[in-house]
Amino acid sequence: MDKTIISIQNLYVDYEKKKVIDNLNLEIAKGKILSIVGPNGSGKSTIIKAISRTVKISSGMICFENRDIKKIKGMIFAKNVAVLSQQYDCPKDISVKELVSYGRFAYSGWFSGETKEDSEIVNWAMKRTSVEEFENRKLGTLSGGEKQRVWIAMALAQKPQVLLLDEPTTYLDLCHQIELLELIKSLNITDGLTVVMVLHDINQAIQYSDKIVVIDQGKVVIEGLSENIINDKVLKSVFKINAAEINHSELERAIYYPKNVIN
Ligand code: ADP
Ligand code: MG
Repeated sequence: MDKTIISIQNLYVDYEKKKVIDNLNLEIAKGKILSIVGPNGSGKSTIIKAISRTVKISSGMICFENRDIKKIKGMIFAKNVAVLSQQYDCPKDISVKELVSYGRFAYSGWFSGETKEDSEIVNWAMKRTSVEEFENRKLGTLSGGEKQRVWIAMALAQKPQVLLLDEPTTYLDLCHQIELLELIKSLNITDGLTVVMVLHDINQAIQYSDKIVVIDQGKVVIEGLSENIINDKVLKSVFKINAAEINHSELERAIYYPKNVIN
């Protein structure tokens, strides 16, 4: 049995009286990769925001290691849960190393200086994400793929147990998408990081996660092991597409080719 690290119980979130998350229940297993998939506007980002405490929940409860996250102090929470959100402002004029160092804030605060341990962890995070070669470059001068790795380095500098990622591969070309997913997988396998990510590409979700949860209109439609949760019925009913299942000897799992939209 997998150990639960985060549990979402009877969650409701409303924006201006509009119900966006509608009695959602979800168990997130420690040390595993969970992908959240679903159509635009189904509530995926809101789930990430609810877990990272950046949106007000209307009712229900989210627990981290059996404690209500509302009751966990900010600094303690940041040492456990790091988030890379979908939209962020990019401060162009700061260097890569400075940004990654912000990840240590939960440990050192703004005013105390950086300890030897802080600087070792910042260097480790930059090395782990292969950004150390441009540690002195300004953020504004980096490519999309490089920038995304720097944000991950900042999250890693928090030394979190859980990393939340909202569409981490958006804006990246195919090569950099795979490079990022391989990095995430490696952080999961080697460093035991629990990963919760929102992905649009169903096939990438199938290949890179242990479990997939399909969301529609703020509810869990179906969830389960990634190798057997997606099929043409789900793609029809949730994503409104006709898809062909593809089995290939070089692939561990079946993937799906979207053929056309159901009118
Ligand atoms: P997803 O990430 O699955 O595309 P979101 O969680 O961003 O979906 O949004 C779910 C729904 O909530 C959408 O209908 C969206 O328009 C609405 N919504 C999101 N944020 C806000 C907000 N700040 N104010 C009002 N409505 C919002
Ligand atoms: Mg979103």
